[in-house]
Amino acid sequence: AKILALSVVTAIMAYSWRDTFVAESLRGAKVLVTGASTGIGEQMAYHYASFGAQIIITARRENVLKKVAEKCLELGAQKALYVPGDMSNTTDPEKVVKFAVEALGGLDYLVLNHIGPSPFAMWDGDVEHVRWLMQVNFLSYLQMTSSALPHLEKTGGSIVVVSSMLGKMCTPFVGPYTATKFSLSGFFGTLQHELAMQRKNVTVTICVLGLIDTQSAMDKIKGYTSMKAYPATDAALHIIKAGATRQRESFYPLYTYFGSLFRDWFPFLRDLFIQNSYNYEP
Ligand code: NDP
Repeated sequence: AKILALSVVTAIMAYSWRDTFVAESLRGAKVLVTGASTGIGEQMAYHYASFGAQIIITARRENVLKKVAEKCLELGAQKALYVPGDMSNTTDPEKVVKFAVEALGGLDYLVLNHIGPSPFAMWDGDVEHVRWLMQVNFLSYLQMTSSALPHLEKTGGSIVVVSSMLGKMCTPFVGPYTATKFSLSGFFGTLQHELAMQRKNVTVTICVLGLIDTQSAMDKIKGYTSMKAYPATDAALHIIKAGATRQRESFYPLYTYFGSLFRDWFPFLRDLFIQNSYNYEP
């Protein structure tokens, strides 16, 4: 009971940063959001716009980005530009950061959010897909970070990494995806230590999300599970606040915090629960 009470207090403390968020701090902020043509990235673009930020958005589909950028201007963005980029291509990550820094005259936030499509299915042995997905979901994040860091150091800026409960806990049907998210946790966790030890005024926020109701996620899990999905717009706002208040790690919704905390306590029961929460007949 004492441990449970302590965990609840810790959770409340972990969430208390919500009160410290000052919307005004984002007015005029120079922000690059990846994967912003749809889903959580698109919603983040709209929130940053409403806060009066200067935004660059990127993804592959130029026609969709154009519409998102137009809506951002309507919502109050000081600037909203788009740059198409394919993160499976090893030269585009650097090109996109360069575009953002030149267009904005610097950078305050690098928000890494994009993911490449990956099947929701048992692994079929396709190593090439894993290699490709590692470039899109992981290595391109490193390339963009490497290009952006000198500029973020000048502004005391932040890197915001959108990750998942699947970067903390193993579940079926998502082998390649979960591998990329675990990689992000490992790499950016190390970077947090190194930036702090070098006394660099750049923060890294890792966001751990549960199931969110984006079209792509809903299409994938259809028929497999009836787990509750949380609104993309709330997830997006949560991520922005976590970045703006320079959190190390942030959880949305709250169950992801408890899941991370207790995941190794009863491994047998955990795995039984996970395997029984999907509809699957071999
Ligand atoms: P979506 O599938 O809705 O959006 C993915 C975005 O990435 C799109 O803008 C897409 O645009 C872009 N993208 C895809 N491939 C590439 C590529 N090769 N190069 C550049 N951009 C690309 O994803 P969500 O909004 O659902 O997820 C956003 C983030 O949240 C991800 O990091 C995901 O892991 C995380 N998350 C989501 C959860 C959920 O349940 N939805 C749960 C936990 C974490 P385009 O096709 O135009 O390139």
